[in-house]
Amino acid sequence: MKPRWLNLLLIATLGLTACSEAPPQVHRAKLFTLGTLVDVSVLHQDEAVAQQAVTIVETELATINRQWHAWHDSPLTLINQQLAQGETVTIDSATHHFIQQAQTLATNSDQLFNPTIGSLVEQWGFHSDERPDGAPPAKERIDAALKQAPSMANITLTATTLTSNNPAVQFDFGAFGKGYAIDRAVEQLKRAGIKNAIVNAGGDLRAIGSKGGRPWRIGVRHPTEAGVIASIEIDGDESIFTSGNYERFFDFDGRRYHHIIDPRNGYPANDAISVTVIHHNAATADAAATALFIAGTTQWPQIAKQMGIDEVMLIGNDLTIYMTRKMAQRIRLEIDDAQIKIIGNET
Ligand code: ADP
Ligand code: MG
Repeated sequence: MKPRWLNLLLIATLGLTACSEAPPQVHRAKLFTLGTLVDVSVLHQDEAVAQQAVTIVETELATINRQWHAWHDSPLTLINQQLAQGETVTIDSATHHFIQQAQTLATNSDQLFNPTIGSLVEQWGFHSDERPDGAPPAKERIDAALKQAPSMANITLTATTLTSNNPAVQFDFGAFGKGYAIDRAVEQLKRAGIKNAIVNAGGDLRAIGSKGGRPWRIGVRHPTEAGVIASIEIDGDESIFTSGNYERFFDFDGRRYHHIIDPRNGYPANDAISVTVIHHNAATADAAATALFIAGTTQWPQIAKQMGIDEVMLIGNDLTIYMTRKMAQRIRLEIDDAQIKIIGNET
């Protein structure tokens, strides 16, 4: 008969082996921040490490949300008040970095991504936690706002100061802040040694690593029906962002008015119904999806080129799917009978 201590030793050894060989699990957590449901997936064998990773993400996203909220009292609303008074705003290095990146993206998009049109977005009723209802703003009000022509070109930035030569500049980083926050969260995850994860804010996400050796598979929402229109595999470190006319909108007199405003005419852009962009950097993907949505079916290839974006899928009003060649090579359409036009990424 084996001595009892040997049995115990065996069990202990087996236990250890089982533990060290346990395959890493995907741990998922849901957070509500940045005005949306954020889904964090972390692949790790140690539950405590995964928990810690979720806390890191939560902290980063909440910090950016608090800093850059466009209608709750925030450091941003304070900056907007100062700019409206023509004052010089004192800024720290994090603010400098944030605004500088937004300014570059605005320039490269020919100011279609224009995060200074906060007044227009507010007029349209989108500076609210509720869905706007009632009529669209009067055309005279929109024209008056357009005449003031606020843009990132009005902004002068130094390491410690921010000034605007146009008092109509009112920042609204709704088209960029989510991407910026996700970049920050992913950088912090990497610093903490996390290699495989997704930070997904309502379908806009950055993914790193893989799902235990298999690529992460991501669905792209169908713009007019339930379910997905396409799926894509992501392996490495990439962001995928979609801007659509179905995200925030209201209906009035049988017409839909949504939250992506064309700064050239002050009305919701209406030549596309959704745009998906893949890029390494989430902030760039976020701003680009918005800018290309406004650019629409004919101008998007030029703006994409200027912004350094080479993977795009744009869906027009008639559901024609426009794609760059690079996007077409990797995306899997989940619908039949799609009308597809491949444009760009020189043949
Ligand atoms: P979502 O936040 O639904 O993913 P977007 O990234 O396209 O959508 O951002 C839309 C938000 O960006 C709007 O709610 C508004 O705050 C802001 N916005 C609207 N039009 C523009 C524009 N032309 N340039 C920059 N920001 C805009
Ligand atoms: Mg965007």
